[in-house]
Amino acid sequence: MPRPILATVHLPALRHNLERLQRAAPDSRLWAVVKANAYGHGIERTFPALRAADGFALLDLAEAERLRALDWRGPILLIEGCFEARDLELCSRLNLWHVVHCEEQIDWLAAHKTHQPHRVFLKMNSGMNRLGFRPAAYRSAWARLNALPQVDEISLITHFSDADSARFGADGIAHQLDAFAAATRDLPGERSLCNSAATLRHAGRELGSSALAADWVRGGIALYGSAPDHPAHCSADWELQPALTLASRLIAVQQVQAGESVGYGSTFVAPHAMRIGVVACGYADGYPRHAPGGPDCGAPVLVRGVRTRLVGRVSMDMLAVDLGPAEADASPCQAGDEVVLWGRSRHGAVLPVDEVAQAAGTLSYELLCAVAPRVPFAVDDGDFPTAI
Ligand SMILES: *Cc1c(COP(=O)(O)O)cnc(C)c1O
Repeated sequence: MPRPILATVHLPALRHNLERLQRAAPDSRLWAVVKANAYGHGIERTFPALRAADGFALLDLAEAERLRALDWRGPILLIEGCFEARDLELCSRLNLWHVVHCEEQIDWLAAHKTHQPHRVFLKMNSGMNRLGFRPAAYRSAWARLNALPQVDEISLITHFSDADSARFGADGIAHQLDAFAAATRDLPGERSLCNSAATLRHAGRELGSSALAADWVRGGIALYGSAPDHPAHCSADWELQPALTLASRLIAVQQVQAGESVGYGSTFVAPHAMRIGVVACGYADGYPRHAPGGPDCGAPVLVRGVRTRLVGRVSMDMLAVDLGPAEADASPCQAGDEVVLWGRSRHGAVLPVDEVAQAAGTLSYELLCAVAPRVPFAVDDGDFPTAI
């Protein structure tokens, strides 16, 4: 029997979340952001659901080729643009739209031989200071692109650093929004500003005479069912459904006495007699090693659909959980019982990945992208529960 760990991608949830984002920005087109192999879910696995989007945004040219190999003929946007001049050949051949964020990328375009002029998205650094032209340099970059025969259409794009919170400035986005609006006021072209957080939280805000959602929104994490602004909101607040379940099973049960410890480093000492379940999932599967399992706080876990907690340190291939809550008023747990690390239990309960990420001091993004290659995947096309 193979090791009983399984990641399941839920296509109905992806379809639902995509519609949720479309409802938040009904007058905009939606890019499904599928970078990092669709946030770890798999481009090919998610494609049957995400093809309902208007386009795909990603940054790895090999991933763009995979989408074309799936016969996707619609828009694909490279959100970091080209990494070297010859990447433009692939853009011409596969009809990829690409971001232009620096002078070198304009130089490469100017030297590129093509019969097919490109659609480009000129990136503004409106305050995040990662990629793009500063507002003062934006117009001259636009004019340079506009003079190139290799360029067909220029669209305008920027990215918010704090759309998920109000840490910086009044609402997190006003300073960047003002910078973008002022520098682009009389430039023609389609516009794209919003990631998931901005789409859910701010899509209706004004941008000149239109809405902030503008021509294109770029939906990433919300598609996969995580709240982009957790813990201010949880996935249920935004009506998002988990698109990935990481599940395993108990492979052993230990009866420990008060004062006995569990796992490496003996970080958990049983305060009273307890039954502990040993689960076939560890950090080599992508479960965060830093998830807490100490005496005061344990990362949440579902055993037979009942919420309980991690105890002790996560090892490479195993972790341990308190079986108490699952056994209260129920039969004793045994090897083979279902354990959900995050996502959806066959018993109906849901454990949002955001809660596990928060407990481990990280974000859902990191956990979803980190599911290890050794974990087998299944696809739920409406027939979940999938037996593992
Ligand atoms: C990753 C990314 C997105 C999607 O962000 P989410 O927070 O996952 O919605 C949008 N735009 C750019 C430029 C990105 O890099």
